[in-house]
Amino acid sequence: MANQPVYNFNAGPAVLPKPVMEQAQAEFVDFRGCGYGLAEASHRSSVFEPVIAEAEADIRKLMGISDDYAVLFLQGGASLQFAMVPMNLYVPGKKMQYANTGSWTTGAIKEAKLFGEVDVVYDGKDVNFTTIGEVADWELDPDASYVYLCSNNTIFGTEYHEFPLTGDVPLIADMSSDIMSRPVDVSNFGMIFAGAQKNLGPAGVTLVIIRKDLLARCPATVPTMLRYSTHADKGSMFNTPPCFAIYMVGLVAKWLIAQGGLEAIEARNSEKSEMLYECIDSSRLYVGTTAAADRSRMNVTFRLTTDELEGAFIKQATAAGLIGLKGHRSVGGCRASIYNAMPLEGVETLVSFMREFERNNG
Ligand SMILES: *Cc1c(COP(=O)(O)O)cnc(C)c1O
Repeated sequence: MANQPVYNFNAGPAVLPKPVMEQAQAEFVDFRGCGYGLAEASHRSSVFEPVIAEAEADIRKLMGISDDYAVLFLQGGASLQFAMVPMNLYVPGKKMQYANTGSWTTGAIKEAKLFGEVDVVYDGKDVNFTTIGEVADWELDPDASYVYLCSNNTIFGTEYHEFPLTGDVPLIADMSSDIMSRPVDVSNFGMIFAGAQKNLGPAGVTLVIIRKDLLARCPATVPTMLRYSTHADKGSMFNTPPCFAIYMVGLVAKWLIAQGGLEAIEARNSEKSEMLYECIDSSRLYVGTTAAADRSRMNVTFRLTTDELEGAFIKQATAAGLIGLKGHRSVGGCRASIYNAMPLEGVETLVSFMREFERNNG
């Protein structure tokens, strides 16, 4: 047993709420008195069916999702959505518009190009994705298949603080790393998707929220498993769903409701991220890596003045129980992922550690 609390700043899979972990543990071997575990239960049983139904209902309640939208639990990660989006939603001859704000959109654009013409409305490559630019500068095509963005760039640490209004053109968002971190008006989106392992639960399930009229767009040549309509028609039970991961996502949704919902969690996320950015900005050792206006409240990226200090910082932080602070392998530096489930004390502990490290090394 660790004799000090461990705070997990990993980007994903990531920290989950302690009460959720404890409830899952308590129910693991004997699920709610049925005599066996949920991981052993048939997905077509009276044990699992209420679990998926409640998870969906709680997600709808939290995000204010109307009946115009289907809520799906899929597999293949957020990365499969990079391909499923154009496969299902590209209208031949109508270009797909993408904002390129980092590695995840770069990957999504690559897949979209397999299916048709991609128009990049913003490209942050030349500024190494340190900013996401101005949404107002995008040249939106009223005849596009769809407009696509990534709401929070997990690797670079930028986040949209406002979304474009795209009118009749569906807006698609990869919200893998900031879903349910703040209220969002779902009715402005054609589709939202998120791999669960950042802000929603364990790896293994991807949440897809899609406006039902878009289900009909899919060409007949797309294989059954890759069609949103297949999963919408069968309530995510066309084949065996990732039952245990869905259960955990459901527990997280209930925890969020108990926290006061998305407005309450947003206020806490602002408090946590402001505390950390304030520490960075008031220091001469730590340097934020992104444009201040575009800073993410989920993934706080920074560097130290030298590589040696960076190495020492991560090593000493790890020894102090502050784990997962190394930046993504593609960009280096440091990153503190402070998702919904990261308690305020975790950020306070990190800030104290950072100040002390600066006193000792400044
Ligand atoms: C992690 C992440 C992905 C990739 O998720 P997988 O489930 O590993 O495919 C995609 N988009 C964003 C924004 C992410 O943070």
